[in-house]
Amino acid sequence: MANEELEPTGAPSASEGIPSGIRSIRDLIDRVTGRTLIDYEEGDAGLAEQWPFPFLALVGQKEMKLGLILALIKPNVGGALLVGPRGTGKTTAVRSLIDLMPSVEVSNCYYGCVEDDVEIGGVEALCPNCAEKFAKGEKLTSLKPVRLVELPLNAELEDVLGQVDERAALHSRIRVKRGILSIADKNLLYIDEVNLLRDEVVDSILDAAAQGGYTVRRGQFSATYRSKFTLIGTMNPEEGALRPQIMDRFGLRLLVKGLDDIEERKRAYERARSYLISPKRVVDSYAEETLIAREEITSARSLLPEVQLPESVANLGLELIKKFNIASLRAEITLFEAARALAAADNRREVNSEDLAVVAPMALRLRGSAFMQTYFDEQADEEENIQAVIKKIMKG
Ligand SMILES: [Zn+2]
Repeated sequence: MANEELEPTGAPSASEGIPSGIRSIRDLIDRVTGRTLIDYEEGDAGLAEQWPFPFLALVGQKEMKLGLILALIKPNVGGALLVGPRGTGKTTAVRSLIDLMPSVEVSNCYYGCVEDDVEIGGVEALCPNCAEKFAKGEKLTSLKPVRLVELPLNAELEDVLGQVDERAALHSRIRVKRGILSIADKNLLYIDEVNLLRDEVVDSILDAAAQGGYTVRRGQFSATYRSKFTLIGTMNPEEGALRPQIMDRFGLRLLVKGLDDIEERKRAYERARSYLISPKRVVDSYAEETLIAREEITSARSLLPEVQLPESVANLGLELIKKFNIASLRAEITLFEAARALAAADNRREVNSEDLAVVAPMALRLRGSAFMQTYFDEQADEEENIQAVIKKIMKG
């Protein structure tokens, strides 16, 4: 294809907009990921941490990329779980989302105070500083890009929920140090190797996710935090299974296999090598398209409330779920919300059956339970027996 059209040609120009022939973020992903990179001279290193590998420079892995974008467009999709062996770029892909993040209203305060706190707990729920601002009618939040909050595998429960700082001032908001779950509010909560996370930590995440918030109590002090986050996890199934409750929490299940096309592997190697030599230059050469992708995600998010799901398409989805014998009602939510996000990503106001076909594997795989199937089958035999005995005894 006409890859040379998308070669970097100098400073990005804001007036150019979307490159010709690109209609939506899906086209952008398809086109840009096929592009070849200029071979860089060695000795031009920069710090890789400052320059996350560009999302659009990831080779292949179309399903993973599309799934992550859908999770960004529509938080109700329920986040995404990336399932695959080591070394397939799962973590790189998640971290590369940073440059694509849309903006949301978040607290300006270290303690996480927002206007809504007043509705729930009165002005006392705010820290003294924010209470003063609130009284003057000043805003407590501002528009900032969504953050990627990483939950370390060795996190203690106190790090996750927050803890009491005995030396702090006698105000409950200040006495309780914010935990990772509060910081993750409105952001992405990323858990690498989620299947290896300790049970008590998993439980606290599930509780917060179910209620959209949580309360920390220590003696006379308590503080309530909002915690509505998009959960992104990775797991290597070779290293252990994921508890069914947390597996159910993940909306999209993205399979990340190694690249098996030789050309793709070669391209991936070349990009990784260019990135090792100069992260900044690789990031710069994708800067223009990255900016377009971020704008597309933001406009897809604003189009989303208008996207309709026709009944005929919804019925197809329900038929699929029935055929796959899926019990969890999250299957419908994920399937339909992901299909709506995909329609929005494609600049359409109506979901069609093709949207459904594209997202169905991501939304519905790894939801069936062989255990439950056998359990219900055996139960059915018992049930039949019970009914037969009841009939017999009652007649006699
Ligand atoms: Zn505050």
